[in-house]
Amino acid sequence: MSEQIIKLAIQGYQEQLNDTKKVISKYENKIPADKKIEFPETAYNLPLYFAFSGKKIQSLLDVQNLIYEIEKKNSDIISTDINLNKTLDLGIDTIILQELSLAVESSAGEKINFIPDNVLRSLGVQLVSGDISGIAVIVGAAKDEDSAVNIIRSFQEKNILSVLAADYEGKTMYEQLSNQNVEMLLDTYIVYLGSNTESVVLGLNWAVRTALTYGGIQGGQKEKCLKYCAERIPAFAMVLGGVDAKKVATAVGAIAMGFPVICNFEVPEISVKDEQGFEQRLLTFEMDPNKIVDKCLEVRNIKVKITDVPIPVRYSSAFEGERVRKEDVAIEFGGKYSKALEFVEMKNLDEVENGKIQVIGKEIDEVEEGSALPLGIVVYVAGREMQKDFEPVIERRIHSLINHATGIMHIGQRSIVWLRISKNAKKSGFKIKHLGTIIHTKFLDEFPSIIDKVEVHIYTEEEKVNEFLKRAEKLYNERDQRMGEMTDESVDVFYSCTLCQSFAPNHVCIITPERPGLCGAYNWLDGKTAFQISPTGPNQPVRKGELINAEIGEWKGVNEFVYKASNKTLERFSAYSLIKYPMTSCGCFECIIAILPGTGGFMIVDRTFLEMTPCGMTFSTLAGVVGGGQQTPGFLGIGLNYIISKKFVSAEGGLKRLVWMPSYVKERFREKLVQRAGELEVPDLINKIADETITKDISGLIEFLTEKQHPALKMGELI
Ligand code: SF4
Ligand code: ZN
Repeated sequence: MSEQIIKLAIQGYQEQLNDTKKVISKYENKIPADKKIEFPETAYNLPLYFAFSGKKIQSLLDVQNLIYEIEKKNSDIISTDINLNKTLDLGIDTIILQELSLAVESSAGEKINFIPDNVLRSLGVQLVSGDISGIAVIVGAAKDEDSAVNIIRSFQEKNILSVLAADYEGKTMYEQLSNQNVEMLLDTYIVYLGSNTESVVLGLNWAVRTALTYGGIQGGQKEKCLKYCAERIPAFAMVLGGVDAKKVATAVGAIAMGFPVICNFEVPEISVKDEQGFEQRLLTFEMDPNKIVDKCLEVRNIKVKITDVPIPVRYSSAFEGERVRKEDVAIEFGGKYSKALEFVEMKNLDEVENGKIQVIGKEIDEVEEGSALPLGIVVYVAGREMQKDFEPVIERRIHSLINHATGIMHIGQRSIVWLRISKNAKKSGFKIKHLGTIIHTKFLDEFPSIIDKVEVHIYTEEEKVNEFLKRAEKLYNERDQRMGEMTDESVDVFYSCTLCQSFAPNHVCIITPERPGLCGAYNWLDGKTAFQISPTGPNQPVRKGELINAEIGEWKGVNEFVYKASNKTLERFSAYSLIKYPMTSCGCFECIIAILPGTGGFMIVDRTFLEMTPCGMTFSTLAGVVGGGQQTPGFLGIGLNYIISKKFVSAEGGLKRLVWMPSYVKERFREKLVQRAGELEVPDLINKIADETITKDISGLIEFLTEKQHPALKMGELI
């Protein structure tokens, strides 16, 4: 490491030490002694400090003691000749000091853009599936607003999530982009952390929580944690403008965590040899603004697969979350204005003309701006390996694929589609026909082994749309029936999903017709389709084999599969039990089940519910207990749809044991829950299940259950 960097890092560390002390004295008298120092909505306290030390900060006194400890440890740092490792340690101390500053400010009521745990979880599947291919922490500001937009658009096109932090000479990337009306949301892959250098740490303490949440790494396992960050989290920092000492010390902290730093100005490069002897660049630069994004990906070894979709607007999954507002609409279909539907049907190879796309009815330039038309998108696909079962899986992709085009908004599916094309998209030359272009190009690209030919008919005439609606509705019904009739007993194979192993190395989901994956994104048909598309991919058929125990859902074949796929960490697996050999969790579960001693039952909480629950823990605290690929009897991460399955923790009595759930989950599933309760012969069960409007604590809950005579009370304790 160059002498210049070492000197700056030491200086930066010292500046940070002083700044953190200043923050403490500023708030010392404003924060009561018994006030907890913490960030909101996380189970990991001060995540970086917790990850590296295993300790949690409780009070301002803890903060002061820690600062003293860090200062004492580094007191003779200037006089000694320090090496690479020692400098990296100093970088870590710097980011810990930054975390302390922000946590104190946050506890004092200042607004800090801390990223809560549930955001991390909701992004999990996007990261493992490659929808997000990497994370760029952008420090400083671009040369001008145009370059800022260019950088961010290139990252978006490459499916990179951009995290914006710190300023350069008073300018921030955030201002540059908002001046240019760039929509900055998590959904458009842009997150803003703050304008000071300290805010960078909010990106780093987000990254470290991935190791704690998914990696099964315990607080205090510092080396393991750093290794996990370096090997599994595809993050890097891009530093724009220039640096001061504090930024250098922060960058050294990022490098210590294994995240390379790429600057747009000249810096002395740092690299190390990895275990295989390959040169790894830790600090480097690229002065050509047109090359810097590619350089970042190359240095971090992020491979992005992009197919060129021949349409006149930008296309990437980063644009999926963009909205088209009422006043920006050039034309819309569906919603409350007209009828809009889409459906995919399989045909024989000789019945489909590949690449044929036709619009039957009016095109975008034949109607007045802002008007609504009916819409029927009918897609015929053919392929040697195509099966009827794959139709719904393929059809469901239309939603995302169309949404990935800038200026096009797609909501819903089947016959409840709502689609908007913006004025800007129209101005760029986007036509209704291009919806077909997207579907044709991307279907061939995403399903190469099952689809050989795609033909798209787009109807914008009322009469034709109604005609197809009838036909489509019949097909939707048939599909639902087929899927509805499918039970775990009716198939010989389940499907595995090990997508999340890139983050949770020992986790495996077993997906059955009656139990979806815990992230809610994959059901049995998805597994079957995915296996057909990619026979060596993360979804493998799992032969059930000999039945061991029907009640808890245990089979010999499944056990053997899980043993191998979990890297020999799990010997037994049950599909329907919460207590006996339950499924493990990676971390991206939609909700968690937790038993409630004293009630005979269990509760469910989903990841958007932020309040306290009757088990005495919030979702995020609870989630800290469940993840990381371990079996945790009594706790279970599940997908929302599993709640209404007949196999819903059936080993323990299923729905009859459910005593508490958030009210909006109850409402969302009301109809199905009532139906299931009827089948279980407790027709008014739904009125006996409490929610947060009734009570959030255990004694209130027991009172309510007793009054309502909830069946769980008589079923005996779960453990
Ligand atoms: Fe991860 Fe399971 Fe979802 Fe697959 S099904 S992506 S392993 S949570
Ligand atoms: Zn997962």
